Amino acid sequence: TAGPLATVPDPRDRLLGGLLSPDFDETSCHSRYRALLYRRPSMHAISSYLVSALRRYESLHRRCGPGTPAYVRAVERLREPPNASATSSSSAECSYLVWNPIEGLGNRMLTITSGFLYALLTDRVLLLHSGGGDALDDLFCEPFPGSTWILPADEDFPIRDMGKLNGGHHESLRAVLRRGDDPGVAPWLYIHLRHDYSKVHQDQQFFCEDMQAQLQRVPWLVFQSDNYFVPGLFLNPGHERELARMFPRRDAVFHHLGRYLFHPSNTVWGMVTRYHDEYFAKADERVGIQVRKFGWAPISTDELYGQILNCSQREGILPVPNAATGGSEGQPAKQKAVLVVSLHGEYSEKLRDLYRKNGSTGRETVSVYQPTHLGAQRSGEQHHNQKALAEMVLLSFSDAVVTSAVSTFGYVGQGLAGLRPWVLMSPVDRKAPDAPCRRAATMEPCFHAPPRYDCRAKANGDAGRILRHVRHCEDFPQGVQLV
Ligand code: GDP
Repeated sequence: TAGPLATVPDPRDRLLGGLLSPDFDETSCHSRYRALLYRRPSMHAISSYLVSALRRYESLHRRCGPGTPAYVRAVERLREPPNASATSSSSAECSYLVWNPIEGLGNRMLTITSGFLYALLTDRVLLLHSGGGDALDDLFCEPFPGSTWILPADEDFPIRDMGKLNGGHHESLRAVLRRGDDPGVAPWLYIHLRHDYSKVHQDQQFFCEDMQAQLQRVPWLVFQSDNYFVPGLFLNPGHERELARMFPRRDAVFHHLGRYLFHPSNTVWGMVTRYHDEYFAKADERVGIQVRKFGWAPISTDELYGQILNCSQREGILPVPNAATGGSEGQPAKQKAVLVVSLHGEYSEKLRDLYRKNGSTGRETVSVYQPTHLGAQRSGEQHHNQKALAEMVLLSFSDAVVTSAVSTFGYVGQGLAGLRPWVLMSPVDRKAPDAPCRRAATMEPCFHAPPRYDCRAKANGDAGRILRHVRHCEDFPQGVQLV
C-alpha cells in the first residue's frame, strides 16, 4: 500500500500517537495520560489502521456494553428456549466475549489482551467476569470511554458458575463437536484455551478459519485461558490481512494493546509514583531486574544470585564493583538505580550489600531498591494484585530490563516498556545454564501452549513452522511468539 501507514508518535503526545482516546476525564484515572512522563518514549510505530480499529471498537462497546438496551436484549435472548434462540442468534445485533480470571496477574493481563484482539477481529464486545471476588477491584481504570468492561454482577445471569466451566462442559466447543452438533446455532459456548487442551483437537480448532466462520454466529462466547494466545490468531489465514494492517510490525502487538488497555487505578498509580519519586526520579539510568522462581525449575538462592550477577555484569547492565578504583576522578558519578522485583528479598539484599561494600567503578554509583517481597503468590487478593501491578508498571519505566524466563509477569513489564529484555534462562539440573542470559529476539510474550492441531493438514503439526513471523520462543522452546 502507498502512503504513510505508520507513524512514530511525538513523545510529548499524551494520546500516544492516537492510541488513547481523548474522551476521558483525567481525574478519574491519572495514569492514563501521565504514564508517558515516566516511561521512555515508545520507539514503535502505531498504524493509523489500528487507531481507527480502536475508535470503531470503542463505539461498538458504547452501543452494546452493559446498561445499554442492546445489552439487555442480548441477555434476554440467552434466557430463551434453545430453539427460539437458534433462529434469532444469526440476527443478534451485538455479540460478546466473556473473560474469566485464572492464574496470576501477568497471565490475566496477557489473556485479557488476547481476548481483546480476538474481540477486535470479530466485532465482539469484551467483558471481564470478576470471578466473584474483589481481585479486579480498584486495579485498572476503564479502558473504553463512556462504558464499562466489567460484566455486571447479576445473580440471574443465565450463564451460571462461569468460573467452574471446563473443557468437558456440555456447552463447551469440545463437547458440541464431539456430539456432532453445529456450534453455530448455540446461544452461547464455552471455549477452553487453558494449557491442558494440548491433546484435544476440538478445543484447538478454535484457531481454525472454518471454525471461526461458525463461531461468528454465536452471540456469547465465554473463555478461560492461561496463555497469551495472540500468535494463534495470526495462524488463522482469515485474520491475516486485518492483522497485517493493524500491526505492520508484528512484534509490537502487546506493547500497543497493553498500553491501550492497562491503566493502573489511582490507588495503584499512587503506589507507583510515590516509589518512583522517592527512589528513581533522580537516577541517570534505571535498570529493572525481575526475579521469578518456579517450582518446576528449582535453583538455590546462591546459584540464582550468581546467575543474575554474571548476566548483568557480562552484558554491561551493572558495573563490576572495584573498591580500588572507587571515587570519582573529577566527573560526578553517573547514578544507576536498580529496581528489583521479586517475591523474595534475598537478591536485592545481596546486590545492595555488594555495591555498598565495594563501591562501584569510578564512573557509576549503584543503588538497589525493592518495593515488596511478599513471599508467596496470592492472586485472589485485591491488595496483593495492586502491588503486583504497581511493580510491573515500575519495571516498565526501566531503561534496560532483565527478566526471568517463562514469567508472564516479566513479559508484561518488558512489553509495556517496549524493550527486548535480557532473559535469565531456566536452570538446568538446579544450576544456572552456561549462558546466564540471552537478549530476547522480541519484546512479545511467548504463547506457551500453542495449538498442535494444524488446521490445513487436519493433523498434528508444528505451530512454529507455519509462518515466518511466528517462531518458537527462546525462553520456552515449545511455545511460539511473534517476531
Ligand atoms: P508468572 O507466574 O511469573 O507467569 O506471573 P503471574 O503474574 O501470572 O503470577 C505470579 C504472581 O505472583 C503475580 O501476579 C504476583 O501476584 C506474584 N508475584 C510474582 N512475582 C512478583 C513480584 O516480583 N512482585 C510482586 N508484587 N508480586 C509478584
